[in-house]
Amino acid sequence: MQADYDILIVGGGMVGGSLAVALGETGFSVGLVEAHPYGSGSEPAYDDRSIALAYGSRRIFEGIGLWQGMADELTPIQEIHVSDRGHLGVTRLDCKEEGVEALGYVVESRIIGRVLNERFSQVANLELISPAKLEDISITRDAGTVELNCAGTLKTVRARLIVAADGTMSAIRDKLGIEVQRKDYGQSALIANVSTERPHEFVAYERFTDSGPLALLPMSHGRCSLVWTHNQEELARTEAMDDEVFLNALQERFGYRLGRFTRVGQRASYPLGLLRAKEDIRSRVVLIGNASHTLHPVAGQGFNLGLRDVAVLADLLFDADQQGVDPGSLELLGQYTNWRKGDLDRVSEYTDILVRLFTNPWPPLAHARSGGLMAVDVITPLKRLLARQNMGRTGHMPRLARGLPLQAYPKRNVQ
Ligand SMILES: Cc1cc2nc3c(=O)[nH]c(=O)nc-3n(C[C@H](O)[C@H](O)[C@H](O)COP(=O)(O)OP(=O)(O)OC[C@H]3O[C@@H](n4cnc5c(N)ncnc54)[C@H](O)[C@@H]3O)c2cc1C
Repeated sequence: MQADYDILIVGGGMVGGSLAVALGETGFSVGLVEAHPYGSGSEPAYDDRSIALAYGSRRIFEGIGLWQGMADELTPIQEIHVSDRGHLGVTRLDCKEEGVEALGYVVESRIIGRVLNERFSQVANLELISPAKLEDISITRDAGTVELNCAGTLKTVRARLIVAADGTMSAIRDKLGIEVQRKDYGQSALIANVSTERPHEFVAYERFTDSGPLALLPMSHGRCSLVWTHNQEELARTEAMDDEVFLNALQERFGYRLGRFTRVGQRASYPLGLLRAKEDIRSRVVLIGNASHTLHPVAGQGFNLGLRDVAVLADLLFDADQQGVDPGSLELLGQYTNWRKGDLDRVSEYTDILVRLFTNPWPPLAHARSGGLMAVDVITPLKRLLARQNMGRTGHMPRLARGLPLQAYPKRNVQ
């Protein structure tokens, strides 16, 4: 039986949506399934959360042609300041030392959603299927078949490749019986926009406190985006605070580097954990973004990593299209996992170590930690590595990650 699409992406969050636009440059026919109605403004994947985009993600968005649409609404991060509350060590990463105009950029996920939505209608070979919820999936030799619930009407769709971009609770992963490694940190991230007495001067602060990491990202209109990690008991207490008590508690945790905290906007919280799928591919299926790996936001790497999944997959699929190769073949998908494995392992481990290291109050470890931060601050190669990791510029880079369109240079052979 003929497939309805060459590629069906399930999940139109920031990762699935970006892949849908990137694949507009291939000749494949693409379907994008999203459970929440697109453009409604109520999609949970596009809320008020601020995302720190690594410099490498800027390159990918440039390659896909999405950067211009968001450029006016981003705030550059020129310096990253990492410290440990109550201990001496501090590490500073500076864009000038890296020879770039910014180490990264802060943008609200709502804006990324708007820019993606505007582009969907311009991608000729893309069809949006929304609202539609995937209920089931089955795989045969030639295609993947999904059962969709489209506002009460059931629909069956076949595609040569199914991309699972359906987030942390991925239904595709579960239906296919793909196991995961899961770590519950027993923590939640409380997020809010805050105003401060002194200007942020485009510095991002990462502060490790005895109750967990706290990040302040520079934002537009002089505001900062707060990501404050709590254990469950503390979260209930902090959520119940009125604004004034909340600002005092934050002041006590963060200190006075930005003067007094003067205002806080709406607060929201997210449970935190680490999740890694034990397999990222099956014949005709590939898992990307949070469906494959969900990280603690402490290092601001989750979406950046997902966007690198997009860049690599789009690169391989573009070449597959040029060479008439089946996009769902296990050989092709094997090339994808081989390419992504090093980056995924490195960033998951690095994030997990950061969380565990900096939430352990044991005094000898705390001393080693401040020693470590001071050491990183003075040892240039180590600092460079940390900066490059934060910027998403390590390892073998696909075309989009160099800011180049997919057609930019001669194809490599794919099977
Ligand atoms: C507080 C916080 C701060 C963060 N800060 C950063 C940061 O600074 N930098 C960074 O890089 N990352 C950050 N992250 C991580 C980042 O938000 C995620 O990595 C990213 O949103 C993952 O996108 P995704 O598209 O893979 O998944 P999701 O955003 O979860 O999207 C999945 C989509 O699939 C849809 N879906 C699910 N099931 C179905 C189904 N059955 N049928 C159809 N559709 C379905 C959902 O509706 C959703 O739209 C942060 C995360 C948190 C919680």
